[in-house]
Amino acid sequence: MADWDKITRRGNVEDRRGLRNGLASFGITGVLLVMGATYLMGGNPLDVLTQIDIEQVLTPATNEDTSQFAGIDSYEQFVSSVLGSTNDYWNKTFLELGNTYTEPTLVLFRGGTNSGCSGATSASGPHYCPADLTIYLDETFFDELTTQLGASGGDVAEAYVIAHEVGHHVQNLLGTIDGTRLTNSDSVEIELQADCYAGLWAHSLRDQGIFEPNEIAEAMNAAESVGDDSIQQKTQGEVHPESWTHGSSADRLNAFTIGYETGDIKKCTF
Ligand SMILES: [Zn+2]
Repeated sequence: MADWDKITRRGNVEDRRGLRNGLASFGITGVLLVMGATYLMGGNPLDVLTQIDIEQVLTPATNEDTSQFAGIDSYEQFVSSVLGSTNDYWNKTFLELGNTYTEPTLVLFRGGTNSGCSGATSASGPHYCPADLTIYLDETFFDELTTQLGASGGDVAEAYVIAHEVGHHVQNLLGTIDGTRLTNSDSVEIELQADCYAGLWAHSLRDQGIFEPNEIAEAMNAAESVGDDSIQQKTQGEVHPESWTHGSSADRLNAFTIGYETGDIKKCTF
């Protein structure tokens, strides 16, 4: 466990985990019943699924479940420290570039929530929405990272994922991404750069006694295990490079390592 208490800076975290969205009690049986009824009425059951998907993320979350996530728990504290440390690093780096950094918000949620990008769901994994400068994170994703994708897990691996999403925020501020991605290979370059930016952040903490040297290997292992080839191998049993959107395990590990070892943003071009 890294010593996150050494980071005094806090990021802007909005905890929506205690908010139930409208579909929470609907359940899969309900979906199948509606699909069946639609089919009997001559409709296309898949339209129902699309509709439900939209409703799930657009229904305002109003009922607060104060019992479970009230106050600031240790996870929120951890996320806020990691985000705070990225703020420190990127504020400084933007100043050096003659620019001003706008700090992002991070929303913790469960299931689905509203976002400036037509909604966030757990199924899409941690992601960044350029329209509202916000990172969306359902931390139960990390259980999947550990059990299905074979990452060793742990807090440093989770911090790497947050730093990667912050990398997309940086790309947004610098105009590297404009929300339209033309081809998969463009997307690969963008993703590798975000990994490299995560490496820059890890480099900035290197001399502060926050990580043990072996803990940085945890972040590297996470970068490696979310390579497109590893994910395809584990989920489909085969590998299709033409459909890669994030790069291979070797590429991702390499990108992170370049950032971590050089600490130089100019080296993060792919
Ligand atoms: Zn990404």
